Amino acid sequence: MAKKTEAPGFSTLAIHAGARPDPVTGAAVTPVYQTASYAIENLDKATALFAWADLEGFNYTRCGNPTTRVLEERITALEGGLAAVAVASGQSATMLIIDALLGPGDELIAVPNVFGGSYALFTGIFTKYGIKVKWANPADAASFAAQISPKTKAIFLESLSNPDNLVADFEGIAKLAKQHHIPFIVDNTMASPYLCQPFKHGADIVIHSCTKYLNGHGNSIGGIIIDSGHFDWAKDDRFPALGKPHPRKGTPPLIDTYGKKALAVLLRQNLTVQGPALAPMNAFLTITGIETLPLRMDRHVSNAMKVALYLQKHPAIASVKYAGLPDSPEKERVAKYLPRGTGAILLADLKGGRPAAAKLIERLKLFTHLANIGETRSLIVYPDTTTHRQLNEQEKALVSVGPGTLRLSIGLEDADDILTDLAQALDFLSDVGAA
Ligand SMILES: *Cc1c(COP(=O)(O)O)cnc(C)c1O
Repeated sequence: MAKKTEAPGFSTLAIHAGARPDPVTGAAVTPVYQTASYAIENLDKATALFAWADLEGFNYTRCGNPTTRVLEERITALEGGLAAVAVASGQSATMLIIDALLGPGDELIAVPNVFGGSYALFTGIFTKYGIKVKWANPADAASFAAQISPKTKAIFLESLSNPDNLVADFEGIAKLAKQHHIPFIVDNTMASPYLCQPFKHGADIVIHSCTKYLNGHGNSIGGIIIDSGHFDWAKDDRFPALGKPHPRKGTPPLIDTYGKKALAVLLRQNLTVQGPALAPMNAFLTITGIETLPLRMDRHVSNAMKVALYLQKHPAIASVKYAGLPDSPEKERVAKYLPRGTGAILLADLKGGRPAAAKLIERLKLFTHLANIGETRSLIVYPDTTTHRQLNEQEKALVSVGPGTLRLSIGLEDADDILTDLAQALDFLSDVGAA
């Protein structure tokens, strides 16, 4: 039966949003515009481009690129946002958005349950800039209320936390953010826009590491910042980069010139100066990956659920953290915010501690031992001394990383083959008594 609405569905957007056949050659696939710079027809046009008066044209690939623009428009559509700026990595997305909104003396409310690189930014680089980071619990809105002050300029958390699978209390936190006029930033990498759309639940800004599910094939690094266009930067004077005239040039406030697109323009201006531009080839690989995102995510979720249920029953395993499990404490928020599933990253805690973890990594044949998530391949890593080595013992306990913990990223292989591989490796552990 035909749909009742005109708006294209998610799978249609994943294939078509932002792209059209090349107007010159008819090429159906978005070309890789592998160029550093662009010939400009005359001086007036160059002046307009350099003054950010012409936002459509291209000038230099550090500021924008036609292949990258397709990626930006596609992810904007998938998240239901207004505009996006793609960057070199997920790390640069976090760096760029916090740097754009906060300065010395400002406060960020973040959570410890985040990707290790984000934690390193919060506890290292940002504090060096004089940005104070205060901590809250993503599953408990009241813990944010306790940290808010007049200096709070952003809230940052992950929709589904890497690696410990906490689901954010979106509604409670969004309500607080609105009340106190604080931009609410969500890293949606672990869920992907197919499983969760934070803008529907009150987030103002979404970031992604495109390296993970969006690309999906582990063949390039990339990041993106998407603006919902919902936040009113003019409401008070706390965001001078957007709401005040330029301090040196005296040009009008960005919100006067660009309206709802002001944040996207500011981010692009900062990207141009700071430099972490996405390579056009990586934009191309990510666009290609996104075309199959819905199909891949359904399979990731069903494979991961089978693995989680299997591991939970295995005698060598002490506990499994996967938000999708029927007895997960996240159950209610999963039903509300991740109804299609909770991704494919899970934590398994081995009774045999580090020796058992080391043996398991060695015995597995199908799993690749590497530090990434969201690839077609099944992956395994030992967070304690790799991805989460910067955390102290107390912090590790907070994110459920201990000496027996392994992080698994379940791929798209046949579920039976994944389970068979885990079974042979785990049974070997029991045989040698390492369990
Ligand atoms: C990997 C990751 C990042 C960082 O992205 P890179 O592309 O590796 O720089 C940020 N957030 C989350 C949740 C991630 O998993």
